[in-house]
Amino acid sequence: MKLKKIEHIGIAVNDLESASALYEKLLGTACYKVESVEGEGVRTAFFEVGGSKIELLEAMAADSPIARFIEKRGEGIHHIAFEVDDLEAEAERLRSEGFRVLNESPRPGADNKRVLFLHPKSSHGVLIELCQEKADSSQ
Ligand code: ZN
Repeated sequence: MKLKKIEHIGIAVNDLESASALYEKLLGTACYKVESVEGEGVRTAFFEVGGSKIELLEAMAADSPIARFIEKRGEGIHHIAFEVDDLEAEAERLRSEGFRVLNESPRPGADNKRVLFLHPKSSHGVLIELCQEKADSSQ
């Protein structure tokens, strides 16, 4: 049981449109998906880079987690997401290893994923996301 690969890196931005335009230039590839995740109060834009992804995150409300992150720390890297095969089993494994899993159960994430987060204090200041591809779109 282990984390499979870096699925994406999440970057908090003030303005999704201008940040997307810049990342299109930087990466030389177009954004392939813009998606809102209502539960997280966030709008996202995804770029694919050699099998990993960049996820730009823009707050939808002043009290959303991304807005609070930017208020405290400014724009920048917000989280690193690792792909797993079995979210529940990984959460249990990491809890038993002493990591603080922030969510009781997986939540719907962007880009057809179910996600869980580990507290940054568990991992030297880095917010870690675990994500698993949804088996179908009905979940
Ligand atoms: Zn993410």
